[in-house]
Amino acid sequence: MTAPLLSIRDLVIDYGKGPGQFRALHGCSFDLEPGQVMAVVGESGSGKSSLVRAVAGLVAPASGEVRLDGKVLPALRKRPPQTRRMIQMVFQDPGSSLNPLHRVGAIIEEPLRVTHYGDASRRAARVAELMEMTQLSPELASRRPRELSGGQKQRVAIARALAMEPRLLIADEALSALDFTTQDHVSSLLSDLRRELNLAMLFVSHDMRSVRRMADDVCVIEKGHVVEQGPVSEVLYNPSSAYTRLLLAAALNPRAALSDPRLAEALENGEAVSEEALEGVMEIIRGGALMGDSR
Ligand code: ADP
Ligand code: MG
Repeated sequence: MTAPLLSIRDLVIDYGKGPGQFRALHGCSFDLEPGQVMAVVGESGSGKSSLVRAVAGLVAPASGEVRLDGKVLPALRKRPPQTRRMIQMVFQDPGSSLNPLHRVGAIIEEPLRVTHYGDASRRAARVAELMEMTQLSPELASRRPRELSGGQKQRVAIARALAMEPRLLIADEALSALDFTTQDHVSSLLSDLRRELNLAMLFVSHDMRSVRRMADDVCVIEKGHVVEQGPVSEVLYNPSSAYTRLLLAAALNPRAALSDPRLAEALENGEAVSEEALEGVMEIIRGGALMGDSR
């Protein structure tokens, strides 16, 4: 049997030392196969970013393992270039992750230049290809980030991440700063790319709508503890933990949620949230008032 693309075992993450030490993740385990999308959900401060940052090598685990193709991943600076390029990340704020002084074409070309990919014309062709893949029209290549919409900026960040032909893309709240319509467009782009490229994804989000649309599996984290994990069809349609049910409600304006009689009843009876109730919740989400997450 071949090893999974990504394998996480008993991952524990601590910040600080001595009496002030804080455990942000108390153990998390899962496998991810090529082309598989795992959503990581939980309220702000629950440890989602810590988990994916450990996978990216930006945080050293206190204990446990992160394996890629069966091999234990060291910290980012100790990873060989071939391993580094396999895992790429897209962050929440597309504005601050793009150099404001550079033009879009140069931003997407940068990882190609750094890794000595081909000559200038080969790189230009690859940039054009990446822009097409991310549905950015060619004339945007000469624009600067401030001249782009939020959705276009996030597409540029995705194009740049794909330049390295990663096998795992980490999207940490990558849709959270976008308006609903743009979220839908970017999430369907990510779904297409995942199919075309057989790209695995760790998709951090508290938007249950895009989680349901994009992810195969979901891992629910509460204050650093994994409370529930499994296929989206089970966890988000028939959650076993009260926390997941509350999270579904709190992903929107709780008062509005509780004024939805079907959801209020489901929560009060401690029942799993039915698909119908969830649809009611989704209606309210569409109306706005999503819980903020500034991280
Ligand atoms: P999330 O992404 O779910 O909002 P994080 O993983 O960013 O959560 O944070 C989890 C917890 O770890 C929070 O309580 C946060 O304050 C804490 N934390 C995150 N990064 C650091 C850090 N560099 N130093 C100390 N504490 C941190
Ligand atoms: Mg976070």
